[in-house]
Amino acid sequence: MLSTPNAGPAEGSPIAMASPLPRRSRQARVVWGDRVVTVGGDAPVRVQSMTNTDTVDAIATAIQVKELAQAGSEFVRITVNTPEAAAAVPYIREQLDRMGETVPLVGDFHYNGHRLLTEFPDCAQALSKYRINPGNVGKGDKRDRQFGQMIEAAMRWDKAVRIGVNWGSLDQELLAGLMDANSRRAQPWDARQVMYEALITSAIESAQRAEAMGLDGNQIILSCKVSGVQDLIAVYRELARRCDYALHLGLTEAGMGTKGTVASAAALSVLLQEGIGDTIRVSLTPQPGEARTQEVVVASEILQALGLRIFVPSVTACPGCGRTTSTTFQELAKQIDDFLRSQMPVWRTRYPGVEKIKVAVMGCIVNGPGESKHADIGISLPGTGEAPSAPVFIDGEKAMTLRGEHIAQEFQQVVEDYISRRFGSTAEAL
Ligand code: SF4
Repeated sequence: MLSTPNAGPAEGSPIAMASPLPRRSRQARVVWGDRVVTVGGDAPVRVQSMTNTDTVDAIATAIQVKELAQAGSEFVRITVNTPEAAAAVPYIREQLDRMGETVPLVGDFHYNGHRLLTEFPDCAQALSKYRINPGNVGKGDKRDRQFGQMIEAAMRWDKAVRIGVNWGSLDQELLAGLMDANSRRAQPWDARQVMYEALITSAIESAQRAEAMGLDGNQIILSCKVSGVQDLIAVYRELARRCDYALHLGLTEAGMGTKGTVASAAALSVLLQEGIGDTIRVSLTPQPGEARTQEVVVASEILQALGLRIFVPSVTACPGCGRTTSTTFQELAKQIDDFLRSQMPVWRTRYPGVEKIKVAVMGCIVNGPGESKHADIGISLPGTGEAPSAPVFIDGEKAMTLRGEHIAQEFQQVVEDYISRRFGSTAEAL
């Protein structure tokens, strides 16, 4: 017989619930018109994304910005790399305003940002935040002057900035200086540790230089992006320990599909659980034909899975097994998930609170009724050899049984009616 020492609950000591630790950072304000998106402090962790259109094509860029915003991106970054791109920025803003889309725009600058922000004041004004890469602002004595010009633009137009360091474009002079200092140590650090130090030093010293010029420290957001999961965790833990600036979190060049999604989720989840990260971006390489909005979906799902935000109703679906050979329940789960997601841009305002509901789509009688009862609304489809009927549970009670060819369409209608009934009155009361 197996012995079970210490089995059973200890008297008076329930298992502690897991929840992300708090880290109180400063709060930045990213503003466009009446829309203010706060980052850091007591603000929820924000989702952001970046377009991959040619910024010079103002219409295509405005359309993609709107798609990303509709998918849940709370600000959207665009490349501003040439005079033509800088000239297009006010038109992109205008198109968005015309479409009723107030999402703040962030300009991504490298090499010539100092010139573009000075020579194109309409661009500087139309953007709500500037991303400055300290590794790409210039070399030698030009570096401080050009960095300073960008900070001056931020102060003149009252914009937030992200000082975004990336290990692919790390300040080489700073890195060389740290390498030299390291070689003189009695016990030199590993080259990787010197690189961590260079990333963090570059970000914090640049932020301090910006503050010394007069930029409000609350308006500074920092990032130190690397492409390795363990590297990112190590760097951000130390960055968070050394400063209280709001932090932008993301694994750079995460990759495609499952690999990029899993790597981003693994790295970001560890840090977010430790309270590190005030805004996130998932840098996925879109697969051919895949929507750019996928990176917003993944970022939102990471925050929702951790219980940090709720964006869309969640669909619980079983994985299927030998008890169900048909693909009906897979198709239904996908159909319901797509349906709920596609309705959210409208439902968000029409049915406040709808994002909190849980829908279950289950494959057979083993866990189907139980899981469906735990959801707000659930369906238990028939497994192999079971009677061809699908009981539907609403608020924990069996409400009806669906049969026949059109179970999917009927269940979608049941879900829609439930949401309208439950949340329609909330909307009227507001
Ligand atoms: S609910 Fe049924 S079909 Fe789904 S995984 Fe469990 S046993 Fe398999």
